[in-house]
Amino acid sequence: MSFDVLCSPVQFLQQVGICANQNWLREYEAWFEREGQGISDAVDRAGTPWLRMFDRWGARVDEILYPPEYWRMLKHGYREGMLWRVFEQNSLIPTYLLLYATAFYDPGLACPYTVSLSTVSPLSKYGEAELKARFLPRMLQRDDNVWQGATWMTEIKGGSDLGAAVETVAQRDGNQWRLTGDKYFASNAGAELAVVAARPEGAPQNVRGLSLYLVPRRGEDGQLNYRIRRLKDKIATRSVPTGEIEFRLSEGWLLGRAEHGIYLILEVLNLSRVANSVGSVALAQRAIADAYSFAEQRTAFGKPIIEHPLLRRQFEDRLQGLRAASRLAWEAVRLLDKVWQEKPPYSENYHLFRLVAHLAKYWTAEFAVQTAKWAMEVYGGVGTLQEYRVERWLREAMILAIWEGTPHRQMLDGLEVMQRKSAHRLLFRHLVGKAPEAQLLEMEARVERQLGLPEVDREGTLERLFGDLASLTADALLSERLITNDFGSLSE
Ligand SMILES: Cc1cc2nc3c(=O)[nH]c(=O)nc-3n(C[C@H](O)[C@H](O)[C@H](O)COP(=O)(O)OP(=O)(O)OC[C@H]3O[C@@H](n4cnc5c(N)ncnc54)[C@H](O)[C@@H]3O)c2cc1C
Repeated sequence: MSFDVLCSPVQFLQQVGICANQNWLREYEAWFEREGQGISDAVDRAGTPWLRMFDRWGARVDEILYPPEYWRMLKHGYREGMLWRVFEQNSLIPTYLLLYATAFYDPGLACPYTVSLSTVSPLSKYGEAELKARFLPRMLQRDDNVWQGATWMTEIKGGSDLGAAVETVAQRDGNQWRLTGDKYFASNAGAELAVVAARPEGAPQNVRGLSLYLVPRRGEDGQLNYRIRRLKDKIATRSVPTGEIEFRLSEGWLLGRAEHGIYLILEVLNLSRVANSVGSVALAQRAIADAYSFAEQRTAFGKPIIEHPLLRRQFEDRLQGLRAASRLAWEAVRLLDKVWQEKPPYSENYHLFRLVAHLAKYWTAEFAVQTAKWAMEVYGGVGTLQEYRVERWLREAMILAIWEGTPHRQMLDGLEVMQRKSAHRLLFRHLVGKAPEAQLLEMEARVERQLGLPEVDREGTLERLFGDLASLTADALLSERLITNDFGSLSE
């Protein structure tokens, strides 16, 4: 593969065997080259947007003040089909293709689209007919009036252990529920509709006591139904406003069965973890592309630095790592596309998907962080300057590793699905013919040994095994010449 294809998300996807030559995707990329990248750079430089909490007469309005160009950039993605294509084509793949292209230019901008997808999905699967009739058409609009979604779980006491940390309470009120509590990390603050983790009154104080609710920004009386306390001042992902949210007897509707809440929460997270994987690969592609264009022109010791053997070799290794990470991320997309409509109890395919999703979230985010750091080093001192963008990829990558569950969370959740559902056996079966049999058998024996250890050692020594499993899976998938028809069957 030549390094030139790295300048284009569409061309790179094509090179790794994913059908990405749809006109709408090409046009989307061209728009970012023409207009979107400039807007995104300005938003990143400007820092945290402003929150206007009151109007001139003292009424609470909670408006987020971005420049008009930001809203044009954001709405462009929805118009191009970030949400409506899922239902038109009955597939998540168009959305993940668009997310890939978005993240190549602005990894933070992929967040509002992802959390909107993660709102539409449980609404369409679990919402009562009346709820769907009321809200779905607003979110699938193809114009600038489209509604956005959000997924709010994390509270001040922490995001990893939601079972213990969620203190938001839901009280029944006829057919509706009233939520009271505070969310500490709430991305896409200001969204018209959110899915929110809360505990119905009297439910157990553990993860099984959580349920998922649909909460609109405005109540039936037209008043604000939740308040934004403040916006976070973040190192990156500035194209999504992340705030603290207050619910005070806010109107909500239960999605699915109350006792299935944790399954629904995990389904929501699945969608965003896969989006994070795709976004991490796009970010790594971008960082390598930028590093390459610099290395071709910067000279040291009489020739362009790309011609020095040490650096040349590093570029080749990065490119190989990128291709492997890409196959892992897109395998997670492919498997997700087959199972996302499943409801509990889930099939074996779903458990296989979950393991691949944890491996992909973990591996691709680590790869993105390391690649962004390396790209900055290739630029040398210039790489540390805010004016040349390459430092931005490192700031963005650091957030991709943490949100949607830290690396620890991915490893431990991956361990759980292997322990409880034997997902590793499903994975090894899935990889037969793609990796040498002896290698698969050896890795399977390692996993079994790990699962047989006492808990302290099982968790304590997990990291190396999990990394090796991710690497083996990525390399095995890379051996396939073409991914499958799943990526080629999208209509124009
Ligand atoms: C920019 C940004 C936007 C976000 N947006 C949202 C959002 O829209 N909605 C939302 O719900 N959340 C959001 N989050 C929250 C995010 O999901 C959490 O930050 C993440 O899940 C980790 O939770 P925490 O930060 O509370 O860390 P903690 O849970 O307090 O964990 C602290 C550290 O301990 C480690 N740890 C915890 N348990 C274990 C264990 N058993 N073994 C080993 N290590 C462990 C963690 O991995 C981590 O390194 C956002 C976060 C950021 C940074």
